[in-house]
Amino acid sequence: MSDIIQLLPDNVANQIAAGEVVQRPASVVKELMENAVDATASHIKVIIKDAGKTLIQVIDNGEGMSPTDARLAFERHATSKIRTADDLFCLNTNGFRGEALASIAAITHTTIKTKQENQELGTQIKIYGGEMISQDVIATAKGTNIEIKNLFFNIPARRNFLKSNAIETRHIIDTFQRVSLSYPKINFSLFHNESEVYKLNEGNLRKRIVAVFGANTNEKLVPIKEDTDILKIDGFITKPKFSKKKRGEQFFFVNNRFIKSAYLNHAVANAYEGLLNHGYHPSYFLYLTVPPNSIDINIHPTKTEVKFDNERDLYAIIRSTIKHSLGQYNVAPILDFERNATFDTPYSFKNKTSKAPTINVDPDFNPFKSNQKATYLKKESSNWQSLYVENKKDISTIQNIEVEAEIIDNKLFDDVSNNEYNTYQIHQKYIASSIKSGIVLIDQNFAHQRILYEEYLAKLTMDGIAGQQLLFPLNILLNISDIKIIRGLRSDLNSAGINISDIKQDSIIIDALPITISESHITSFIEELIENFKNEIPETSLSQIDTIAKCLSRNLAIKPGTTLTNKEQGNILDELFCCKEPNFSPFGRTTFITITMEELEDKFNL
Ligand code: ADP
Ligand code: MG
Repeated sequence: MSDIIQLLPDNVANQIAAGEVVQRPASVVKELMENAVDATASHIKVIIKDAGKTLIQVIDNGEGMSPTDARLAFERHATSKIRTADDLFCLNTNGFRGEALASIAAITHTTIKTKQENQELGTQIKIYGGEMISQDVIATAKGTNIEIKNLFFNIPARRNFLKSNAIETRHIIDTFQRVSLSYPKINFSLFHNESEVYKLNEGNLRKRIVAVFGANTNEKLVPIKEDTDILKIDGFITKPKFSKKKRGEQFFFVNNRFIKSAYLNHAVANAYEGLLNHGYHPSYFLYLTVPPNSIDINIHPTKTEVKFDNERDLYAIIRSTIKHSLGQYNVAPILDFERNATFDTPYSFKNKTSKAPTINVDPDFNPFKSNQKATYLKKESSNWQSLYVENKKDISTIQNIEVEAEIIDNKLFDDVSNNEYNTYQIHQKYIASSIKSGIVLIDQNFAHQRILYEEYLAKLTMDGIAGQQLLFPLNILLNISDIKIIRGLRSDLNSAGINISDIKQDSIIIDALPITISESHITSFIEELIENFKNEIPETSLSQIDTIAKCLSRNLAIKPGTTLTNKEQGNILDELFCCKEPNFSPFGRTTFITITMEELEDKFNL
């Protein structure tokens, strides 16, 4: 048989390579803006027509290029940014592969005008579809003015693949925002079809964020600052009450490069745990600086993923820094419990002397002894300050706990035997009690989930939960993909006291359970756990434990429809407000609401 291998002609090879760098107009915008930044421009203007399909122009006042450099810049692997492989490890430029201009020029009509500061005249080069059309000496301003027309004109298949103008414009705006947020000290402007979309003047980071996202952003921002050996964090997060249904404004920059990281995003979300309503997301603008040799910089130019050496440490630092800031700026809401309890003091006790507030509780007291369905774990008072063991810096929350512990002030009297808080159960679902400002209504199910969740999380991150050998091991049937998930959770489940003795093709055998979980609960727990892991991205032990604690708490919490004695009701109240984040269930549901006296009075004044 004759030989069949042929070398591709240069222009075909270039077009194929170009397709990797340039996926859409926004990719061109990104490369050109980054080149202008690398050229130390202080003013960068981006002009777009028809979502970049007909024109993308970037004008900068940077250092420009000499006539020879201007021509060389369009050769593949032509770069001024690195010379040796070692340079790769101390990069401080956006580009370094020397591919962008060659790629862009291969699939567009490109015209570049450029001039260096000390030159009288500049250079103009035209390259159409990778072919040099002309090089001229021209009069032009200092810096570089590059004009890209008719993207993909010679690859119709790619051109037809472009999305609607609205979508491509959205991508361009995203790109413009990311680059401009990376460099607040540079002036940027964006024009689309002759109208000005953005004009961003140089300033500090806060000013830049406000200029990009609107004046009402300012009050939402909470500054973040942390400096450790392996990670420096700067930037802003938003207060929980300004969280959004969309995930829109979430930005991570690593060494000034925009990146996407589901894993680090999880760390942020985790720090907001309990502060957000179900389905809401915080906005954030976080600038991480890590030693350049601790990340894989050899990433593809169009990709936004980054690989970190010490991902788990970064996760923990980010999470605790944000938690700390949320606490410090007092954005974690605190319920104002009545201090001198006059409103809810039963008449007959009025003249008794009060006892000093105490947070000690009887550790052996089990209010749920008679109600085995509602499994209840008593919180040890020494325990709840260190709920999150990795979170050493979290003093702010400890302060909050002390404030919240003021509820103990309500224990003003001895011998308050049956209902020390004047609680009342409504439709076996809510617990009502009076507080200084009016009434608090607690959802017994969501509140108990929160209590159990913090309890389990503390236990799991510390010594684990002990399991008890079952007389008859349980066989739970599962499908293959579920089995895979369980396999990954086996050791964490074991520290939760749930021992999987065997994993078969379509079932698992459980031979030990913590005493708190009844056998009838275990199947629904395992199913819910699997469901949660299907939607969960990170695979670290930290988040696995978190999910296990969540699912345990949801399965074991007192359900609506359960009658609670006064003691049990009081205990829920007590335990809930000793929680680190009492406002929401671990799944983000509101645990309690308050109705103020004014609101009540209004009802009677209609
Ligand atoms: P890279 O940015 O990876 O080096 P590019 O293909 O984007 O590769 O650019 C090639 C070279 O052209 C750059 O290294 C730089 O020297 C020069 N260059 C590109 N754009 C500009 C610009 N706006 N101003 C000055 N020099 C530029
Ligand atoms: Mg470049």
